[in-house]
Amino acid sequence: MAQNLERIMQVLGVHPDGMCDDCLSRISPVTPRQTVYAICSAQSRTGAISRDKRECPQDGCHKTKLVNALPAHRSGPTSAPDPGGTLKEQTDVLSNYLHEMTQTLRRVDNVAPFREPFAACVTRLRRAELLPKKIAAMMLTINAMRVEVVKDRIVLGTDEWLAVQAIWTVLERWKRSLSN
Ligand SMILES: [Zn+2]
Repeated sequence: MAQNLERIMQVLGVHPDGMCDDCLSRISPVTPRQTVYAICSAQSRTGAISRDKRECPQDGCHKTKLVNALPAHRSGPTSAPDPGGTLKEQTDVLSNYLHEMTQTLRRVDNVAPFREPFAACVTRLRRAELLPKKIAAMMLTINAMRVEVVKDRIVLGTDEWLAVQAIWTVLERWKRSLSN
């Protein structure tokens, strides 16, 4: 799944005009098309991909559909910056991140004490050298941003949200390296 995401982002990176799900599935290649749909709609909720209804610019397509593009190349009159999404969208994404990070910690240490707070657990595992320092730091950063959004109800700014996405990419890659 994470590998599919990387492929999709790579293709969109070299096709700034963007493309519909069908073309993206064919060019990346990520199949079935439903996988492209699932990834792109999830990424559009976080603001990492824009999805606007317009003509797909790819040769042999040119159908009017939802066209995926990286937000920097978003075009048209509806290009108002909307990178991070609403408080609710950020809350959903960050709550999901916490859930996934908790699952990962359980894989690192299967005897995690019952109801140990997330930050305490990360710190303990870092001290025990079960978590690399930078991975622990990044997990704590995501959690600190989550607390701002979920508890303090502060919407993260564009750069902060991009930082969250970048950190998450690093954490996903590290998580994948665990299963090797
Ligand atoms: Zn197309």
